[in-house]
Amino acid sequence: MNNNSKPGINTICTHTGELKDTQFKGAVSPLYMSTSYAFTDVDEKRYPRYFNTPNQQALAIKIAALENTDAALIFGSGMAAVSTSLLAFLKQGDHVLLQKTLYGGTFNLVTEEFDKFGIQYSFTDNLSEKAFAEKVQSNTKVIYIETPSNPLMTITDIEMVAQLAKKHGIVTMIDNTFASPVNQNPIDFGIDIVIHSATKYMGGHSDILAGAVAASQEHIDRIFHMGKNLGGNLSDYTVWLLERSIKTMGIRVKAQNRNAKRLAKFLNNHQSIAKVYYPGLKSHPDYEIAKKQMKGYGGMLSFELIESINAREFIKKLQLIKSSMSLAGVESTILLPSETSHALLSLEERKAQGISENLLRFSVGIEEKKDLIADIEQALEACK
Ligand SMILES: *Cc1c(COP(=O)(O)O)cnc(C)c1O
Repeated sequence: MNNNSKPGINTICTHTGELKDTQFKGAVSPLYMSTSYAFTDVDEKRYPRYFNTPNQQALAIKIAALENTDAALIFGSGMAAVSTSLLAFLKQGDHVLLQKTLYGGTFNLVTEEFDKFGIQYSFTDNLSEKAFAEKVQSNTKVIYIETPSNPLMTITDIEMVAQLAKKHGIVTMIDNTFASPVNQNPIDFGIDIVIHSATKYMGGHSDILAGAVAASQEHIDRIFHMGKNLGGNLSDYTVWLLERSIKTMGIRVKAQNRNAKRLAKFLNNHQSIAKVYYPGLKSHPDYEIAKKQMKGYGGMLSFELIESINAREFIKKLQLIKSSMSLAGVESTILLPSETSHALLSLEERKAQGISENLLRFSVGIEEKKDLIADIEQALEACK
């Protein structure tokens, strides 16, 4: 390979960072399970909690390459990645500005824990430049965004937020889980720190819990110092499984992009569907922003059934599409946000956020499009 040209996405997924089996010349990275390594005073001390075992370092090279940056760290969960990153950059008396539509766990971390550390926080009312700019304070140290967001697939203008933050010398973080590195590389738009729940598209098979952070070496060093104290590394066996999963991430996510776009169009034209939320539809209010910053529109969409159909009954009638909390797996899954992610909100609060009782969140898998469409058709028919 020519050293000047960066390999393409599927080549990075398959090969970048892989370890060589010099002993037996096996085809895949060997797995090093040691928690203890010989001490050599020139080297750093190797220890799993220091994020520097051979398998962790190898996979971090791949994830950094996928996000077009220098360095990465792999965590035991998406929330370990989120909490360690935020706490690395915030101390008593600092302020963090977050967008309002956030993953529930991140919202809970901030609202349930930050008071006790003396960290101030506020949420934007909407996703406009004005909404962010108005909430910036002299002690704001971090701006935190998530796009596309759950469950209405709102799109935040990544470049706008990055530029606003740079003017004030504020560090920016993004939860890039829904897009995956295949569809969106926020570093290219000026974001400092990219966070993933690797439980989702990176793992891709609903059988791994993991997280990752990618950023410049300088920012990663700072997160590393907090990370070794909090102890949120991923076990090497799961690191090895995650490396295997990422090999197919490019082809999986591209298939999910194609399926979701087709399904979004199908649902949009169906008389039993009241609304479809998918950033790849021209009717999506943020379509132009999505087009600017996304290479593909992702495998996540939401839709609202017309009032005469009961959403819970509809889910029960589905035969191929499973009802499940998880998302981003190769299998299609569906859920009711009003009964799951947003169950704790009051009816009025949900209404204010646009989350009706008939809204369904759909994580589109890699099955054949025609089979997914047929399953939805028969379930709608059965609910009539
Ligand atoms: C699942 C998820 C997380 C949390 O990840 P875990 O691996 O469950 O800890 C964070 N952000 C988003 C957008 C998610 O979907």
